Amino acid sequence: MADKKNNNRKNNRNNDEDYNPRFRKMRKKVCPLCADKNLVLDYKNAEQLRKFVNDKGKILPRRATGACAKHQRDITLAVKRARQIAVLPYAEN
Ligand SMILES: [Zn+2]
Repeated sequence: MADKKNNNRKNNRNNDEDYNPRFRKMRKKVCPLCADKNLVLDYKNAEQLRKFVNDKGKILPRRATGACAKHQRDITLAVKRARQIAVLPYAEN
């Protein structure tokens, strides 16, 4: 057990000092709903809501949609409403 702990992780080394696999340089996503003021979520518009669900019909997380907290809530609400009126599926496959 003790020697397992001493196994320091050298296999994932990179010579670049700034390199940290846990925090890669990433372009900060801008919220698609804040970026476009004219874009209004409509729960009857399946085409629009498709962008916020994956191929299984699950709602994408904020890290994938890039939406701000306020708009992610709006997206979630719209998708859930759309499911209820059978515009979007609850689950696929
Ligand atoms: Zn937003």
